[in-house]
Amino acid sequence: MRWPVVLPHDFEDARERAQGLARRTSLGVGGRPRYLFEPETEEACREIVRACGAAGVPLLVLGGGYNLLVDDGEIEGAVIATRNLKYFRVHEDRVAVGAGNGFPDLVRKAIDLGIPGLPGCPGIPGSVGGVVFMNAGGRFGSVSDALIEVTGIDAEGNSFRRFVRDGDMGYRRSPFAGCLVTGATFRRDPALTSEAAAALFQRAMAWKRETQPLTARSAGCIFKNPDGPRSAGWFIEQSELKGRSVGGAMVSTQHANFIVNTGEATASDVHALIRLVQAEVKSRHGVELELEVQRWS
Ligand SMILES: Cc1cc2nc3c(=O)[nH]c(=O)nc-3n(C[C@H](O)[C@H](O)[C@H](O)COP(=O)(O)OP(=O)(O)OC[C@H]3O[C@@H](n4cnc5c(N)ncnc54)[C@H](O)[C@@H]3O)c2cc1C
Repeated sequence: MRWPVVLPHDFEDARERAQGLARRTSLGVGGRPRYLFEPETEEACREIVRACGAAGVPLLVLGGGYNLLVDDGEIEGAVIATRNLKYFRVHEDRVAVGAGNGFPDLVRKAIDLGIPGLPGCPGIPGSVGGVVFMNAGGRFGSVSDALIEVTGIDAEGNSFRRFVRDGDMGYRRSPFAGCLVTGATFRRDPALTSEAAAALFQRAMAWKRETQPLTARSAGCIFKNPDGPRSAGWFIEQSELKGRSVGGAMVSTQHANFIVNTGEATASDVHALIRLVQAEVKSRHGVELELEVQRWS
């Protein structure tokens, strides 16, 4: 008889392993989930998704934890961390990468591999699965510029392979909600020289260093940019909120759309500051700021 991969004692191990997510997120706040799984194979992922589904336990996917705001206290459900899902395969016309691979490493390699868009994404921390889910990027390039195929597991625990079509990916949007992305394939462009890619990387990196607090504890941009020519950061700055703080959470003095943890912030401090910023921007400019950071409660 073949045992399923996820047995009751695996749930016990997963419960033991679960620690406060403050340690696993760049913002450094957040409580403990009921379970934490760190599978090493796609088959194990499938079994975990199915077992959690059968037990009625909600599943949350953790990549690098660079865009997460996790509530204080116990988090309902099981976390499946992707950091052990790693592979890197270079083909003549494409590169296939595991969800657990680090995105900054892929960005550096993209210079010599001629992957369009990615050399314009330095200074964006996270896992490959996380950047695909978020369609991370900025003014110099984004993940969707070269993404051609995604593999993953759907909410029922079935593996899928999806070719990315026009319109699938948008501003901080992908069609993979409710799924576990296990890998992604990016196209290579023989016309993209490493000199041109390196120049783009340097330009984008210089801009990031100048404008964003890259070494502070943050979750990147807290709010999505609203429609129109002005960014969320512009509205926050115009509302004179730079440096405003609640407890240990502060609106960055360098980039107004970043909230930084100055030391002992809790998730409730961050939430209170978010509400304050939203209310002030709404009353001064009539603009509703929507969260970009992903909230787990
Ligand atoms: C200093 C700093 C600078 C940043 N600059 C930028 C920037 O310029 N542009 C930008 O777009 N972002 C930026 N970010 C935000 C962050 O880098 C991106 O959102 C990135 O995509 C997060 O990836 P992650 O693996 O850490 O995802 P996580 O934070 O772990 O998760 C984010 C979301 O993705 C989901 N997810 C993660 N992995 C998977 C998976 N394998 N399958 C399905 N869902 C998954 C999670 O469930 C969650 O909803 C910045 C963050 C910091 C701290």
